[in-house]
Amino acid sequence: MDQPVSPIPSGPVMRKLTRQAVVRYANREVRVGGGAPVMVQSMTNTDTADVIGTAIQVKELARAGSEVVRITVNTEDAAAAVPLIREQLDKMDIDVPLVGDFHYNGHLLLTKYPACAEALSKYRINPGNVGQGAKRDTQFAQMIEVANQYGKPVRIGVNWGSLDQSLLARIMDENAQRTVPWSAQAVMYEALITSALDSAQRAEELGMPGDRIVLSCKVSGVQDLIAVYRELSRRCDYPLHLGLTEAGMGSKGIVASTAAIGVLLQEGIGDTIRVSLTPEPGGDRTKEVIVAQEILQTMGLRKFTPMVIACPGCGRTTSTVFQELADQIQSYLREQMPVWKTAYPGVEEMNVAVMGCIVNGPGESKHANIGISLPGTGESPAAPVFIDGQKSVTLRGERIAEEFQSIVLDYVKTRYGRA
Ligand code: SF4
Repeated sequence: MDQPVSPIPSGPVMRKLTRQAVVRYANREVRVGGGAPVMVQSMTNTDTADVIGTAIQVKELARAGSEVVRITVNTEDAAAAVPLIREQLDKMDIDVPLVGDFHYNGHLLLTKYPACAEALSKYRINPGNVGQGAKRDTQFAQMIEVANQYGKPVRIGVNWGSLDQSLLARIMDENAQRTVPWSAQAVMYEALITSALDSAQRAEELGMPGDRIVLSCKVSGVQDLIAVYRELSRRCDYPLHLGLTEAGMGSKGIVASTAAIGVLLQEGIGDTIRVSLTPEPGGDRTKEVIVAQEILQTMGLRKFTPMVIACPGCGRTTSTVFQELADQIQSYLREQMPVWKTAYPGVEEMNVAVMGCIVNGPGESKHANIGISLPGTGESPAAPVFIDGQKSVTLRGERIAEEFQSIVLDYVKTRYGRA
């Protein structure tokens, strides 16, 4: 008997509709949650008291595509530097909103340095580091009062490395009363989530509108993060910031972040992300922004920069020409984007294929906007170029890379130019 044919569902599940928080600076508004595109953020690793060094890194992160940038505000010198950093950024025409990251002394710094409180567009408050005992509530309230005074949103950012120990002890005591106690892992999850939700409720009781609150509960294990955010998302409608804390270095950090963030985004959970990579010594801090963008773009959630589709190469292509060309084109496209995104709207949707031989080269190139199929070992030294599925020209000789780049630029101008 014939079975009815059902369409195969594709793409991420519908995103959970949370409230929407708005992070503002000057005329720039970044919306978080409430159906807004998933936002990319990053954090500096300079000494905030170093005004010029921090402003330069913020600029680099913003130019790479970070939509807000967080800076640590840990000392009086750092708090005093914040308005000066903002001023430097204004001079460089960088209007990215700055988020202040506070631990232990945020209540003091925000009240003693009003220019800092004003210059920041959002405050990150870690409920585990606000204070101990009776001081905890007072100091948390002081930070919320400043946020209310200046109309700033806050992220209540819980981290399992600095979990509120008195709350954890209370939840452990409650667990001990259960007929069948929860596992230690379940108790930890519950403590993280309760810390975030109780703090958000307290902030609302102190007069903070619910749509100025973003929550996060960061842990460093992939499965832990997925479990915690599933439950957190089920229990509230605040926008959620996703990210593994201490993701690690190199490919380990990238893979772990992608696995955790990818699963949650696929389930419709998450409104803003950060990929917390440990840079290699002397490495480029902007890598975390690029990885975050690539997660969102490869999942089909956002478009940031033209995609380069390149084959991995194999025994059919023994030269490194195609690897070099793929790398060169990818770098070229990313470098052009700060200008192209305004001059050539829609260019971020372009696909460019760079393929190593005739096996999949022409086929893949035809699927892309522009593709080049380089000659594999033993093939005649010719590289056909395909534009919008049609063979356009065949490149030969030493200058294939330059000529291909020029073809890509012509295509961008013609296809995406405003005129
Ligand atoms: S396109 Fe050719 S060179 Fe590239 S992986 Fe496939 S067979 Fe190998």
